[in-house]
Amino acid sequence: MKPRVRSEFIKSGYVFAKSPADIAKEYGFTEVAMLGSNENPYPPSDKVLRAAADELSGVNRYPDPKAAAFHAALRKYICDSPVVTSGLGMDGVIETVIRTIVEPGDKVVISTPTFSMYGLAAKAASARVANVPRKADFSVDLDAFLKEAIDARLSFLCTPNNPTGTVTPVGDIEYILDRIEGVLFLDCAYVEFSDLNYLPLLARDNLIIGRTMSKVYGLAGLRIGYAFVPAWLEAPYNIAATPFTMNRLSEAAASAAVSDPVYRESFIAHVRKWRDVFMKEIPFPVYPSGSNFILINVAPHKGDDAAEFLAKHGVLVRSCTSFPGLGDTFIRVSVGADWENERFLSAVKKL
Ligand SMILES: *Cc1c(COP(=O)(O)O)cnc(C)c1O
Repeated sequence: MKPRVRSEFIKSGYVFAKSPADIAKEYGFTEVAMLGSNENPYPPSDKVLRAAADELSGVNRYPDPKAAAFHAALRKYICDSPVVTSGLGMDGVIETVIRTIVEPGDKVVISTPTFSMYGLAAKAASARVANVPRKADFSVDLDAFLKEAIDARLSFLCTPNNPTGTVTPVGDIEYILDRIEGVLFLDCAYVEFSDLNYLPLLARDNLIIGRTMSKVYGLAGLRIGYAFVPAWLEAPYNIAATPFTMNRLSEAAASAAVSDPVYRESFIAHVRKWRDVFMKEIPFPVYPSGSNFILINVAPHKGDDAAEFLAKHGVLVRSCTSFPGLGDTFIRVSVGADWENERFLSAVKKL
């Protein structure tokens, strides 16, 4: 018999940002403005660095399987609710939630265009994926979404949505939760940059709120995600999860980071300020964003060509052609450090 892999894993998968080293070499820059992955451009605070460094000499021992210190910090500083974690980012949480809830053939609903991970992980679990397009302004088409979600095992909504930046009002989420039979996974990777608070909705037993340490907390390189979940999900999630969900360095850094609001709040203020500047100064249609990135329609240019043009000017952005349902004239640009934003603005004005 010929060795075979599952058909789900042969063709397209997660799309990674282009390497800044490649761009720097290709076009002769010493430093590239990295605005393609919605990261925090600043290193973590000294307190976080010290917490991780102090833990390093103990890595001959396995970490705490319950990640109790991080969970305690989340309950104290963010939300006192059952919580689950993953050391593979919120991507890892999404995968484990699907593994816990979804059986082969179950319906999983996705509101497109959006983050690719939901569809990839659902297909890997042999789910039936139903994609529901958003409206032309990228708000959620509630009736169309509910029509599919009402009898689905699991539905995904991202707010603020990646890559469009669109926020979904708390009342709309409430409306959905009141009507579905299954579970809603609300991806709040960027919620800290918005004015919205969905945490009070956790009183229902059909809502999961996914969050990450990768964006506002500046810990993307450590891969830490978490979710607030209904009480009934906590134990089965932990049985389904890969053992030792967080490593020692991640847990130490993440615990220190959530208890350090100064770093977080100053980055949020920076993002809000630059988001307004981007909205005003970008000479193409932009979409209202509750996030640390902005979606830009660069028509008549193609997104790929615009990204290439910006790369030549030392700016790395994300062409959105790989987001199904979005068309091929969009780019997504993260708010970076001052010099990165300035370089981007001057380059995009030459496009
Ligand atoms: C970045 C991102 C995540 C998760 O990132 P991790 O680094 O895996 O925690 C989840 N959802 C969306 C929409 C994102 O953009």
